[in-house]
Amino acid sequence: MSTDNADNNDSEIVVLDDGVPTAARVYDVMLDGKDNYAIDRQVAEASLAVMPELKEIALHNRAILHRVVRYLATEEGITQFLDLGSGLPTVRNTHEVAQEANPEARVVYVDIDPIVLATGRAILQDNENTTVVTADIRKPREVLDHPQVRAMIDFEKPVCVMLCGILHHILDEEDPQGIVTALREAVPSGSFFFITNFTRLGDSPESEELERVLLSQLGTGRVRTAEELARFFDGLELLSPGLVPLPLWRPDEIVTDATTVGVRFMTGGVARKP
Ligand code: SAM
Repeated sequence: MSTDNADNNDSEIVVLDDGVPTAARVYDVMLDGKDNYAIDRQVAEASLAVMPELKEIALHNRAILHRVVRYLATEEGITQFLDLGSGLPTVRNTHEVAQEANPEARVVYVDIDPIVLATGRAILQDNENTTVVTADIRKPREVLDHPQVRAMIDFEKPVCVMLCGILHHILDEEDPQGIVTALREAVPSGSFFFITNFTRLGDSPESEELERVLLSQLGTGRVRTAEELARFFDGLELLSPGLVPLPLWRPDEIVTDATTVGVRFMTGGVARKP
């Protein structure tokens, strides 16, 4: 997979490799999207064989993203969103939710997978306040210093840093904690962090089995304990209700059964930088 130009300008040609699965496209399968290849569907099928609730879980992940962005844009006055590992455009993207609350809200989508740029550029061409960048969050300084990020985000003003469904694609040896720390240090007081992640379920074997399938077939997919996830929020003030199963974060509808794997496999939270 390659791109011929790192500046993301209109002349860029994006070459996609259909022989290697990617997290963006496997997630697209889970959301019943159309931007995926047979190799991605194979990984999705192997994952669903272990945890059939994964499609439901992907929808919970999208739903909390909508609730968090709506809350921050309407209640906390956040006007800048740095959506890291944004994934392929799908139903109700971050900029749609944020700009519904505030048409001036600015959104930068960052993803390592050039397919996100290829598809995102088309839907964003008439939106002055939104851009898509191809970059790797394992090099946070490069993301923060990227000219398109600097052009859209004012790092003197509060930012919402979104790490929704991405940190499980960062292996322990790639230092996810260091990435979060670098991002935390780059944004001012009053900024927010929104993080969701696969969570180890102590009482059921599926979470470990899924990690094994994803690590072997996709190369990423680290399922973390609640304690490991809590450390990502070090130095930040968690908003109520804390780090919780996704459907339980300020739900729009009552959750009737919070004991299922579908509800509990991903947890998330929102925190403010003091
Ligand atoms: N944030 C979206 C959501 O929660 O609905 C999409 C999440 S998708 C599961 C994870 C995304 O992270 C994929 O699009 C993948 O390409 C991206 N990703 C994985 N590793 C990355 C990295 N090192 N830098 C930037 N993006 C990355």
